[in-house]
Amino acid sequence: MIMNDLYLKVPFDVDEFACLSAGKILSTYEPMLEESLWSDWERERKFAFKLVFISICHDINWDFLQNMLAQRFTEDPNQLSADFLSKINAPTFKKWLSNYDKPERIRATERAALLRDLGQQLIMRFAGDPANIVAEANGFLFGKGGFYDLLDNFKAYREDPLRKKSNVLTHDLAKEQILSFQDTDKIMRLYVRTGRVVARTESLNKALRLGRPLTQWYIKTLRQMVSKALIQTAGIARKTIPDVNYVEWQIARNYCIAREPLCIKGIKPKNLPLDIEQLCNGLCPYINSCVAYTNPQLLKLKEPSQRRSKSFY
Ligand code: SF4
Repeated sequence: MIMNDLYLKVPFDVDEFACLSAGKILSTYEPMLEESLWSDWERERKFAFKLVFISICHDINWDFLQNMLAQRFTEDPNQLSADFLSKINAPTFKKWLSNYDKPERIRATERAALLRDLGQQLIMRFAGDPANIVAEANGFLFGKGGFYDLLDNFKAYREDPLRKKSNVLTHDLAKEQILSFQDTDKIMRLYVRTGRVVARTESLNKALRLGRPLTQWYIKTLRQMVSKALIQTAGIARKTIPDVNYVEWQIARNYCIAREPLCIKGIKPKNLPLDIEQLCNGLCPYINSCVAYTNPQLLKLKEPSQRRSKSFY
């Protein structure tokens, strides 16, 4: 009975040897933080820039658009303001991208309209300051009032039901260490499967295998243990916590999938970011040390269900 476990002081343990193995594997990770026009900008300005850039980044070259906008906003920081964006027109936007070699893709009327909506919503909903979106999300990515929900205020972000732009924005913010986030569900799953965090009783293990909802106390304790194991892993890897968090989130979402991890099928995920591709070289990097890889019972381990579980930090 899980209830009996309530009397256990700490229902989960951190396995230091498993952290050591994972840390050694991650020590070979090389972050690819390129110097860019916006490297020296303040975090709030970087966030505003990414919010604007990704809102209009579809069917157009990512690097070209990003660099062109960064150049614009460097020359005239006012053009990144909500006020300026709320009034931008198609000819102005067209001028911004005038040296793009595929002019038919500029679609100035459509993109200017998305930017105007973004600027207007920023003014009406967030007092003109994109930083208020982050503040209002209050650490949460999903759920009512979470980051994704707040992004739905903008036409550009809400029009795709799959939230592609919201996802791309979140990943890009993490990758460039502008805002790191904890995708607690996936990370918890990865830590339990790799054996870095272990349940101390069979009843808890069973609950995890069956994906049963756990009380907030258990989930909180599990998160604390995952944080502890993450710190140990990062220390051994000699990488920053955001770097390790980013890498493991990529591993969890691309390889260590809830229903059936790719290591079992020997399939290589498509479209991995280059830095992750280099670390993994086709296979999940934990394949030789992961306890779940050789134990079908452990492969069933999932993160416990919970209501709102993903947060910035
Ligand atoms: S080896 Fe398999 S189970 Fe282990 S972390 Fe990698 S994908 Fe997940």
